[in-house]
Amino acid sequence: MNRRSIATVSLSGALDEKLRAIASAGFDAVEIFENDLLSFGSGPRDIAKLCRDLNLAICAFQPFRDFEGMPEPQRARTFARAERKFDLMQELGTDLLLICSNVSPASLGGIDRAADDFRELGDRAARRGLRIGYEALAWGRHVNDYRDAWEIVRRADHPAIGIILDSFHALAPGFPVRAMASIPGDKIFLVQLADAPKLELDILSWSRHFRSFPGQGDLPVGEFMAAIAATGYAGPLSLEIFNDQFRAGSATQTALDGLRSLILLDDQLAPDWPRFAAEPLAPKAKGRGIGFIEFAVNETKAGELGRLFAQLGFRKTGAHRSKAVERWSQGEVELVINSETDGFAHSHYVTHGPGVCAIALDVDNAGLAMQRAESLRARTFYQPVGPGELEIPAIHGVGGSLLYFLDQAGKNWDTDFEPVTSDKGADALLAVDHIAQSMPYDEMLSWLLFYTGILDLKRLPQMEIADPRGLVQSQAIINADQSLRFVLNGSSANRTLPARFISEFFGSGVQHVAFACRDIFATVAEMRKRGADFLDIPANYYDDIEAKYDLAPQLMAQLRANHILYDREGDGEFFQVYTHIFDERFFFEIVERRNYQGFGAANAGIRLAAQAREVRPASMPRM
Ligand code: MG
Ligand code: MG
Repeated sequence: MNRRSIATVSLSGALDEKLRAIASAGFDAVEIFENDLLSFGSGPRDIAKLCRDLNLAICAFQPFRDFEGMPEPQRARTFARAERKFDLMQELGTDLLLICSNVSPASLGGIDRAADDFRELGDRAARRGLRIGYEALAWGRHVNDYRDAWEIVRRADHPAIGIILDSFHALAPGFPVRAMASIPGDKIFLVQLADAPKLELDILSWSRHFRSFPGQGDLPVGEFMAAIAATGYAGPLSLEIFNDQFRAGSATQTALDGLRSLILLDDQLAPDWPRFAAEPLAPKAKGRGIGFIEFAVNETKAGELGRLFAQLGFRKTGAHRSKAVERWSQGEVELVINSETDGFAHSHYVTHGPGVCAIALDVDNAGLAMQRAESLRARTFYQPVGPGELEIPAIHGVGGSLLYFLDQAGKNWDTDFEPVTSDKGADALLAVDHIAQSMPYDEMLSWLLFYTGILDLKRLPQMEIADPRGLVQSQAIINADQSLRFVLNGSSANRTLPARFISEFFGSGVQHVAFACRDIFATVAEMRKRGADFLDIPANYYDDIEAKYDLAPQLMAQLRANHILYDREGDGEFFQVYTHIFDERFFFEIVERRNYQGFGAANAGIRLAAQAREVRPASMPRM
């Protein structure tokens, strides 16, 4: 059955590139968007042949606009125009034309008038063995609700006329979807799927620029699909996504993300839905925290990084028996410094410079996590790539780094380490609080689907942060017990600090790791004694905080003296301090949470500006 489809408008590139990307991602079908065809160098017969070669059915040709309810003489011209599209469809080898509800000011309302037009067009289409699907645009002039479109289709009462249901047009205006369930499944000619983030925007701009794949936005696409499933509809599910990032990004990646979103939706809908997949997906991997974080560096940087770790109170607890790999520990935090001159870490170092080459996640079952990741087309690794070349199941994560899955069996990742005894430290740091990764804005939705698809993580509301040189979008994803927290930072302005990080790091990657502590003042005092030094925060910031929160003078003095940032959320309080940037690549944060769930977004702009001052070329005057 040709059931997994995507509209060519969703992807970047020329039509043939789009079709190849769609086929290689694993779709069965496409909707050909008329403009993609018109702007393409060769004709419909060549596209038909290419689709046959790629094993892609063309499930619809779209869109045909401003058809129903036109007065004469436009009406006659509209029918003539439709006949020409029928010719084209026959050359393309598709039998379904998508007609969206009329937006022309010239059009006349009236359900019966529209039904009559469709009945007549149905006769013409049927003569050629073609079908017409009618879709209510949320901004249609007379018809903007699928329930009205259905009434027109019902009254047209023609076997070649059916309805097209698009999740965006039903959900964005907030129409109830329950009525959908009473439409006979065989009168639904196509189901189009799109999600979108909640935005205060006119619906047309929202639809044209900000649609996303199911699971990437805030619309209840699952409810929409449950109503569709109740109709007995068994035709294609077609992704139709108008999104500026998708149209600018990699067609291959977008197509893969699209397929991933359909696999996830399909799995979520079972058992009421005749799923595409033979087997249900393995359950989402339950994260239990960060097992370890591996840094790839060279020999010189290994020494510098080790000194920084020591200043932060880490103890060297292991040295690999045969490799240039060290283990550093504190509380539950495990860090690995890998300065081998071959292997995965080394190639990561050569490509990206010093940085995090792998994150090991503690999960309930590494085998099942790998199964799920594979079903979702993540790129897997089974070679020995763990610290010191141990075989740990892994997948490719952000920016060419690896995500290892550790369960009970993987707990022996440290077997090849010779224990090193050093002074028992204070263990002021308890655990990894969160890991922040930077990426170009157009990759954010992709990584969001990656993380939330494979792991049991949920999204927090997206934040917008002002960098001195542009805006940064920040998206946190966390698990239920908050033992795993990732913050994805995306920037489209190319001079923001995350963007600069991305260009210097030659790709996306970990920008900072935050550690949790119980008492930030004691922790920072201890670290200072060991030689640690923290990011300078301007006095203006503290004046503002003092006025805003009415903090006790003694606390204010401590914050100022220690470069600690403060935030409050209801009763919750948050304290954070940052190290200087290591080799212009990454940095560390120490946080203390007191009944606080966020990430100090209010302070992020202050921190970014402070860092920008530190990394600014020396030729610029310091102010
Ligand atoms: Mg649509
Ligand atoms: Mg942070």
